[in-house]
Amino acid sequence: MAASPRSITILGATGSIGVSTLDVLRHMEPEAFTIEALTGASNIPLLAQQAKACHARLAVTADEARYHDLRDALSGTDIEVAAGRQAVIEAASRPVDVTMAAIVGIAGLAPTLAAVRHGGTIALANKECLVCAGSLFMRECETHGVTLLPVDSEHNAIYQVLAGQRREAVQSIILTASGGPFRTWGRERMANVTAQTAADHPNWSMGLKISIDSASMFNKALEMIEAQHLFTLTPEQVEVIVHPQSIVHSMVRYCDGSVLAQLGPADMRIPIAYALAWPDRMELPADRLDFTALSRLDFEAPDEARFPAIMLARRALAEGGASGAVLNGAKEAALDGFIEGRIGFLDMADRVELAMESLAGLPEPQTLSEVEALDRQARTIARG
Ligand code: NDP
Ligand code: MG
Repeated sequence: MAASPRSITILGATGSIGVSTLDVLRHMEPEAFTIEALTGASNIPLLAQQAKACHARLAVTADEARYHDLRDALSGTDIEVAAGRQAVIEAASRPVDVTMAAIVGIAGLAPTLAAVRHGGTIALANKECLVCAGSLFMRECETHGVTLLPVDSEHNAIYQVLAGQRREAVQSIILTASGGPFRTWGRERMANVTAQTAADHPNWSMGLKISIDSASMFNKALEMIEAQHLFTLTPEQVEVIVHPQSIVHSMVRYCDGSVLAQLGPADMRIPIAYALAWPDRMELPADRLDFTALSRLDFEAPDEARFPAIMLARRALAEGGASGAVLNGAKEAALDGFIEGRIGFLDMADRVELAMESLAGLPEPQTLSEVEALDRQARTIARG
């Protein structure tokens, strides 16, 4: 007897991860899944096109003002339409087997928490859920029996190499970082870069914000905190190594001296396919690694003087409490400032440090509204 189709919701369907998720689903048997809801924000034409192509039951834009645009784009179909922040949360609350959480930034936290509360599987791309609300998020996942599968390539790699191993045997995890487009640049040269230059990632094709975060290494900073919560690690157990080729996606050091790694091409469809097919694996026509064509794999220590984001993450790991939410909120505000041309590339880390110093020692937020209040405070300080 054929298995019944799995129902899937994609939060952030119109983004880089959302588009890749729909691409991976095209490589599955059409009868293997149904799409319950797709959510987006500003890109109405793409959202409407996606909803029609995959026969979604519901399409939601987070932007209330775009309701009529979406309704008009989907007229003549039986796809339900809704708009606004609350509508995204309601869409996420509809019970499904799998939710792909791929909204960017803390905007993804409330909808993803809503999805967690109906149980099922959460494929988590939105690392901010763990950075801002790590304990709260993990506790909710446990309470509701959620299977949490990391989509972030490094965490997905670690998840894969932890399978079947005893957690107590883990000495540390080693997150790899490409180093971004400014890996070899001095600070003087970085001072005047534009958002467009910073977004030009050498290996990965990603959304604008995460691409710039990769250039500043704030993406790695977020990933260090993400890993701490996801895999229950002490600060000392979180290592970072720069690996410019982005072939080794991360590693785990075991107590006997063994290091296990997951390797693959830099293609986000691979961790997405892992999460969607888990605990099975699916056929995916991604590139195959050709080891004879790889001339070398390089590794170097991150330079915390040129990339202070790593130092700030270490401080947040050690401090715990509210520091993850503060780091992220300040980073998001500083990043907006950089994208809008109000502050320089190097100012971002200074703004985050200022917010972390101003709000040091605050306790860990226990509720969504506490997280959101901290986020607002951190943003206000970072905006200056
Ligand atoms: P994108 O910017 O490409 O897409 C973000 C998605 O969120 C879009 O669908 C966007 O809608 C939607 N969105 C934006 N603002 C809001 C809001 N306020 N409320 C609801 N929805 C909103 O991001 P990515 O796909 O690059 O990243 C998504 C998440 O995955 C991030 O947390 C990122 O850190 C993480 N991630 C991404 C990777 C990648 O390769 N891209 C790799 C690892 C992790 P619209 O476009 O219609 O405005
Ligand atoms: Mg990553």
